[in-house]
Amino acid sequence: MATPTSAAVSHVGKIRSSNQDSGYTGRHLFLVADGMGGHAGGDVASAIAAKRIAEADREYESATDAEFALQSALIAANSLLAETVFEHSELTGMGTTVSGLVRVGDQIAMAHIGDSRIYLYRDDELSQISADHTFVQRLVDSGRITPEEAAVHPRRSVLMRVLGDVDAAPEIDTSILTTLPGDRWLVCSDGLSSYVSDEKIAAILASAPRTQDAADRLVRESLDHGAPDNVTVVLLDITDDEDAPLARPELVGSASQPLSFEAETTRRPLNLPTLLLHPLKATKPDPSHFEPESEDYLVELIEEDKRRARRRRIAWLSMVAVAIAAIVAAALLAYQWTQAHYFVGEDEGRVAIFQGVQQDIGPIPLSSVYQTTTIELSELPSFQRQSVEATISADNLREANDIVARLASAAGQ
Ligand code: CA
Repeated sequence: MATPTSAAVSHVGKIRSSNQDSGYTGRHLFLVADGMGGHAGGDVASAIAAKRIAEADREYESATDAEFALQSALIAANSLLAETVFEHSELTGMGTTVSGLVRVGDQIAMAHIGDSRIYLYRDDELSQISADHTFVQRLVDSGRITPEEAAVHPRRSVLMRVLGDVDAAPEIDTSILTTLPGDRWLVCSDGLSSYVSDEKIAAILASAPRTQDAADRLVRESLDHGAPDNVTVVLLDITDDEDAPLARPELVGSASQPLSFEAETTRRPLNLPTLLLHPLKATKPDPSHFEPESEDYLVELIEEDKRRARRRRIAWLSMVAVAIAAIVAAALLAYQWTQAHYFVGEDEGRVAIFQGVQQDIGPIPLSSVYQTTTIELSELPSFQRQSVEATISADNLREANDIVARLASAAGQ
């Protein structure tokens, strides 16, 4: 039997306690939703949206019809999210990305909002079809930062557009593309695209011809990179065979679970409803997503980031300066200490008084000739001569002079 040509995989990842992603693989419709929501609701948002939009999984007469239906489904999901927030105020601020596509023969209709991605893999090449609705992408588009800077920007997850309770008329991108046998359509959350490079994604798609296998390997690759975020992959392969089997329609991720406030109700049916709705799971604030903010506010955030980086650099430089000053001071003190010492030794065949200590530090001499005497080394008895050659330490200049006086008398001067 032929293997299914569609697959959906969702994984909570290695850090998060809950999966806020949802995915759907259907007969005609395929989507990924990545939820977010301050203290609660990300998983609820993506699940509500995925389930609502999956209702549009039908056969369409034309790609234009499918595009319209898909867009309408996203708008309906947006209203449903707003209604849910109205009824459950603790969900305020929840939202979700949605990237979805509907296949109609050799055409693909798609709708997209947020930073989940639609990729097309064709002829060994991976192309990102959807545009990220992120603040950094806006900066890239206006030429203020490069795509490379965007990829590592600390605010790369700030979304400009999502479905949620924020905007009654969300700006949704839609389009229709032609598809060919051999095309692989990949829809994924940023839990894949932020941690696995396009090159790596392409390499996996190149080496895993079976749909389910490719989807599994993409998710595993993100896990191998530590999977700090939830990761969801939906893959659709276009084959020569119009009737190629698809996976049975399936919701994955948060949408495959009962909604958490519903679950709460069934678990503790005797509690007062208002209390039931409250706990919802104590989801931590989602660090990877922010609510959409005004552009002015974001510009200010970026400036603040720069100022902070500058302050860190200044603090670091001052620390280095202080450390260097301390080292120099210590070296000066050490040098002063050595220069308070004297010894008697030989300089060009004569007895001499040296200031400093006998040891050198690498190429740095710690002693210099203080005074040369008229005593020739050759005039000294052998014991005294050897002592001078080996140097004779003196605690101070007076002691050095005493030693010289004794050597003078030994030399018969
Ligand atoms: Ca995510």
